[in-house]
Amino acid sequence: MSDHSELDSENVRDAGFDDWLDAAEAHEAYYLECDAGHGSLPPRQVCPECGSTALTKEPLPEPGEIATYTVTHVATPSFADDAPYATAIADFGPVRMTGQVVEIDLEDIEQGLEVEVAVTVSETTGERVVAFQPV
Ligand SMILES: [Zn+2]
Repeated sequence: MSDHSELDSENVRDAGFDDWLDAAEAHEAYYLECDAGHGSLPPRQVCPECGSTALTKEPLPEPGEIATYTVTHVATPSFADDAPYATAIADFGPVRMTGQVVEIDLEDIEQGLEVEVAVTVSETTGERVVAFQPV
């Protein structure tokens, strides 16, 4: 899995995110920090803020806080079996990520709710997705 061919960039990108999901499942979620202190997430290999390629893995500061969320009652076909569900954007210190809110009644979700990163499996596609679990 360490073959980083340019021709394979699509696969490398997926592999990078799979690795991240593996880490999140093991409660070792991390983010990438450049030498100027900007945060980003895999599979990025270049800082989106300043273009630095000197990215180091840092432990994700948890818990994060839900910044905004949306409850979906009627989903697109690829998430049909998961509806209703809530998708949120949560702030984890220097990084912000999107995920599905799990293990809470949808009406109890609110801005500022503290969550930690988890991994859930879409009931529709069987694929792993980022989840936020209230702490
Ligand atoms: Zn940077």
